[in-house]
Amino acid sequence: ENHNPEIGSGTRTRAIMEAYGLTFKKSLGQNFLTDLNILNKIVTAAEVSDADDVIEIGPGIGALTEQLAKAAHQVVALEIDERLIPVLGETLADYHNITVLHGDILATDLSALIAEHFDGQHPVKIVANLPYYITTPIVLHLLDEEADFASITVMMQKEVAERLTAHPGTKDYGSLTVGVAYSTDSEIAFTVPKTVFVPSPKVDSAIVSMKKKAANAYQPKNEVNFKRLVRGSFMHKRKSLWNNLLGFYGKDENIKSKLTLALKAAEIEPGIRAERLTVGDFVRLSDCLEDQGLSPK
Ligand code: SAM
Repeated sequence: ENHNPEIGSGTRTRAIMEAYGLTFKKSLGQNFLTDLNILNKIVTAAEVSDADDVIEIGPGIGALTEQLAKAAHQVVALEIDERLIPVLGETLADYHNITVLHGDILATDLSALIAEHFDGQHPVKIVANLPYYITTPIVLHLLDEEADFASITVMMQKEVAERLTAHPGTKDYGSLTVGVAYSTDSEIAFTVPKTVFVPSPKVDSAIVSMKKKAANAYQPKNEVNFKRLVRGSFMHKRKSLWNNLLGFYGKDENIKSKLTLALKAAEIEPGIRAERLTVGDFVRLSDCLEDQGLSPK
């Protein structure tokens, strides 16, 4: 084991937890990073500089938080585990640009958090080693937020990273992929082995970087119906698009003929599967369905 003075080394991580009489809570996804090189690669992948404010989800004992604080203007770190709040007060005592908050990311209004803690003069970037048991809900929550993040750079299990960044026509491509591609340009920045965490998780990990697309990249006529269309189209992954559409628009003849007209106008074959459609295809189809006056049930 190395003699690195930083928080994120294996021995120090265990020593800190022991000193506070704490055990790692599996139920909260507590696998802490212990490799300074990986921590810095995350900060680099997130392109954090002193021109940026950062929100970190789940600081743990502060290993990533410390590296973020060295690079960023201000850091707000939101941790659900009350036991870790005093630990963070101590491990991060030397940094004056960190605010640690006790709370649940899924119950947090991030626009309000940003307005309260940041000066509005710096782009806000989200950076985290996510708790894996709620990766998808967190990503959906972040994408759903009105809050204006410049980017989201987060570690997650490799499998989920592959689904988020999949290309049309591959088995990993699904409604989550389309949701991510609708508002961001995403890619896997790098993968991370199990061995750099204490305790080691069961799965390999990957860092996904999601950069906000320009606000006008896709502008469906009806965003709510667009999102329902995407979810509904992937409802039964092995059914054709046509059969999925009948499932949530309805099956009577009048609806069938409108669906046929909308598909024709959008130049989409009814017999294909949703996994072949790009975000642009879904937006076009959604608009043609609106033109036919169709709404999902
Ligand atoms: N950032 C630290 C690191 O990289 O070593 C810890 C990462 S650990 C994978 C995930 C952290 O998220 C844990 O500290 C856990 O307590 C916290 N957490 C779990 N659920 C949370 C939630 N709903 N809101 C905020 N933090 C949460």
